[in-house]
Amino acid sequence: MSASLNLISEYQHEKVLFVNNEKAGLHAIIAVHNTNLGPAVGGCRLYPYNHLGDALFDVCRLSRGMSHKNAAAGLPCGGAKGVIIAHPSQKTPELFEAFGEAVDSLGGKYFTAEDVNTCVEDMNNVLKKTKYVVGRENVSGDPSPFTAYGVFCGIKAIANKLNGTDDLHGVKIALQGLGHVGFDLAHQLVEAGADLIVSTHSNRKNMDIAVNEWGAKEVSDDDIYGTECDIIAPCALGATINYTTIPQLKCRAIAGAANNQLLDDECGNILRKKGILYAPDFIINGGGVINAAQEAFTVYNKENVLKQVENIYNTISWIVDEANATGVSEGIIAKNFAEERIKNGLK
Ligand code: NAD
Repeated sequence: MSASLNLISEYQHEKVLFVNNEKAGLHAIIAVHNTNLGPAVGGCRLYPYNHLGDALFDVCRLSRGMSHKNAAAGLPCGGAKGVIIAHPSQKTPELFEAFGEAVDSLGGKYFTAEDVNTCVEDMNNVLKKTKYVVGRENVSGDPSPFTAYGVFCGIKAIANKLNGTDDLHGVKIALQGLGHVGFDLAHQLVEAGADLIVSTHSNRKNMDIAVNEWGAKEVSDDDIYGTECDIIAPCALGATINYTTIPQLKCRAIAGAANNQLLDDECGNILRKKGILYAPDFIINGGGVINAAQEAFTVYNKENVLKQVENIYNTISWIVDEANATGVSEGIIAKNFAEERIKNGLK
């Protein structure tokens, strides 16, 4: 637990709220990292953490990631995240209503949305208790397709750096996690002509479609890292690129949807030394929050959202150029870019 408390100080969180509602079975943490650029926006993750310290660690890292993501995307909002400590089988309307009460108690400092293991229906229950919800049904809706589209644009930018062209025909991509984002992304990649290799923990139905209808090749969870390919696209959980997996990598680049893909900054340095390009996660996976933020701060317009999401291509391209020119890792270039904006405002 103390390592997580150190993290709160190190990351300088504005507010960390522990929520306990026995009647609703809710044990949750909401971490508001920074609101310099505006009210904080970030999803609500539901996950069966083994220890409170694990949940705190996760929410601290994720909320700071949201500050970086929102600033880098040029959104007028800060970063926060909520985590509910529960197994998906424990989801009830009351649980999300109680979470809504907690969000409401922050008085608009935090707008919540869908994340891992939460969906539009859950947000409908949160909405019963607070108006500070985005990703609402019939407005911006499920953020996953926009996240997937942004990652697709970012992958094209990476392919261009590798091969001198955006064309994905014959580009070998190993995708980890066929969930909301990964499945949609996999379909876009296949449509664009990529050779797809996939692994997934659950979602057998999605795997069957990927293999039988799209011609993807299935590998085990463990074998994905050592797969010889152009790009690995982590679309499952965080910290999968770490000291154990990096030595196994036989790819030329990493570009995927998962938050906090690298265990730490040093992993980014090692990737650079190995000549593996890295598309910083909080830049490439910004499509969902770009979509959701439109709902919170302007009149929702899908065309504007898509234009902004497509700009992820340019940002990734610029970051890789900067990294190549300076020798500094892509992750650090991206973080410095975001932190400069958090400090001095959007230009
Ligand atoms: P999801 O829960 O729908 O899908 C995750 C998938 O990963 C599941 O199919 C699960 O079986 C699989 N998985 C988990 N561990 C695995 C492993 N070790 N190997 C292979 N597969 C594994 O979640 P999602 O909404 O698709 O999000 C995926 C990632 O993208 C998460 O890290 C999330 O934080 C991030 N992200 C999502 C959004 C969004 O709009 N949903 C936005 C930004 C970032």
